[in-house]
Amino acid sequence: MAARKLAITGGRVIDPAQGIDRIADVLISNGKIDEVTAGTTGSAPDGYEHIDASGKIVSPGFVDLHTHLRDPGQEWKETIVTGTRAAAFGGFTTISAMPNTDPVQDSAAVVDDVMRRSAADGLIRVLPIGAISIGQKGKQLAPMGELANSGVIGFSDDGNPVTDANLMRQALSYSVELGLPIINHAEDKKIGAGGVMSAGTVATRLGLAGVPAEAETAMVARDLNLAALTKARLHIPHISTAGSLIALRTAKESGVDVTAEVTPHHLTLSDEWVYGLKGVVPTTVGPEAYDTNTKVNPPLRSRADVEAVIDAVSEGLIDIIATDHAPHAATDKVCTYNEAAHGINVLETAFSSVFQLVDAGKISVVRLIESLTSGPATILRKDIGSLKKGFSADVVVIDPGSKWIVNPEQFESKSVNSPLAGVELTGRVVTTIYQGETVFDLSDVVASAGAKQ
Ligand SMILES: [Zn+2]
Repeated sequence: MAARKLAITGGRVIDPAQGIDRIADVLISNGKIDEVTAGTTGSAPDGYEHIDASGKIVSPGFVDLHTHLRDPGQEWKETIVTGTRAAAFGGFTTISAMPNTDPVQDSAAVVDDVMRRSAADGLIRVLPIGAISIGQKGKQLAPMGELANSGVIGFSDDGNPVTDANLMRQALSYSVELGLPIINHAEDKKIGAGGVMSAGTVATRLGLAGVPAEAETAMVARDLNLAALTKARLHIPHISTAGSLIALRTAKESGVDVTAEVTPHHLTLSDEWVYGLKGVVPTTVGPEAYDTNTKVNPPLRSRADVEAVIDAVSEGLIDIIATDHAPHAATDKVCTYNEAAHGINVLETAFSSVFQLVDAGKISVVRLIESLTSGPATILRKDIGSLKKGFSADVVVIDPGSKWIVNPEQFESKSVNSPLAGVELTGRVVTTIYQGETVFDLSDVVASAGAKQ
């Protein structure tokens, strides 16, 4: 690492881990944070490179607990290289690689390979998640101790729920000693069997089979009971229903060691987006009746559920925002809604989409940044997600007034499966710094877009 010295001056520095929210300068040297100054000088000390962040927000780099990198095995959808580039574009300096790759990350050999290639080829930090069960088949526990020794930050069969309650109990029990969370995809597939979107009026109008909210709440309730029984750490991924929140609140109040995440899309899009009209409800349903880029698991829920998860993030009942970035090839989405793959491409739109809730006064900007930085870092128990002295210089500069129209064709991701295509968002990451080096700069993107014309 070069001995780069960098001063980011005059921005509104928000670092929830330290309770910092003030106009200040961030000084960086040798890839580490040196100091967040008391006020701003407006200029860089001698020998420092300078970023003028006046009018901007300066935050710790974002930390994602839920990313699907598709590498190894489905490199036509995403790779470690393109996925980490997409992450940097979105302001993320740490992402967690879900194990549903091919082969599955259920052995030290596969995890070691992902870690080695991430360190060599990745633009930012990649933390692997190990599988709960061999092959994510839900039959036999993966070698959890071996995976922990390899450096996994938790265990998940994401995509597949652990349906066998006894296996889930065993996984939770073993995880206690390892000190790592179990992240169970919370869905009772039998309750939602055959469903492709949330049950409700939209599903009925479109003639699509619906998944009731209880498919999630039933599994959340089971997992909370097992976490209470085993005193293990449970992390609930992509929580999406008001009913799950009732169970989550009760469990937290009774001392269960549980945390929960929500995705940007479950915070901002309802099932009305399935119509493909950016949330507008049509008077008649025509031949182009739906947008397969809205197909995701758990499905986009009712507006009431969306309001409930927004309130839960705002008050801190839901601990963090995680992307569930799930890139898919065009062939997985240019098809009928029934045939389409589940998943939304999120890394590059995550911050901007949720920032609309800040502009609407529903979530404070400090809480939003906390849910993307110190929140996930606390769950990971790692020294990241803050601008504390000596921490890795992972920093994001955000322009809260910058407007942009989402164009997936310009994504760094290999895939373009975003329902936000063509939508104008306000608030954008303009610079991402990882270990003191600039890994994304919006002016480079604008310059190259100009050069193409
Ligand atoms: Zn999942």
